Amino acid sequence: MGGLLARGELHHPAPCLHGRYAGRPDTEDLDRVRRFAAEVIGHVSAGRPGPMVGSRSDVFKPKRGFYDFVALVSTDGFLRFTLPEPRLDPARCNQCKRCAHECPMHNIKLQPHPTLGDACIRCYRCLTDCPQGAFGADWRLGNLAIWAFYNKAFERWFGDLKPGEHVD
Ligand code: SF4
Ligand code: SF4
Repeated sequence: MGGLLARGELHHPAPCLHGRYAGRPDTEDLDRVRRFAAEVIGHVSAGRPGPMVGSRSDVFKPKRGFYDFVALVSTDGFLRFTLPEPRLDPARCNQCKRCAHECPMHNIKLQPHPTLGDACIRCYRCLTDCPQGAFGADWRLGNLAIWAFYNKAFERWFGDLKPGEHVD
């Protein structure tokens, strides 16, 4: 029927992403979401066929949008090559085991310090969630790769950034 793109503050650890869209979603975003929800209810209740009036046109082109392109290139091999593996600073680690519990891939064993296996998907949950800040990463290549995709020109090109919307 339609779609809404809502932005939220980014907590990804890559320097070019971290803190982007600070303060989003804001009251204006939330008003848009409420209006969108009301329009969905109206559309369904009235039994109207086809797309909703005023919906983002790009949601009806699912194979040509910015996020479809990102999904296409985000293969395991590409991500592991470009994005850095988290590295532990043992001096900071108090062996609380939190990272091992939080890793969605069960990729961290304590021996006695956390050691990463081969199944890392670069979600960085261990890095952002460690209370001691014991994990870090070398972002030199990864930051460049992420910045090359997540920039204003690229998003506008693929139609996911409307006039008046900005990326910083
Ligand atoms: S969460 Fe941090 S402090 Fe706790 S075991 Fe993992 S690296 Fe060490
Ligand atoms: S980055 Fe994610 S997948 Fe990789 S070890 Fe940390 S928590 Fe596990």
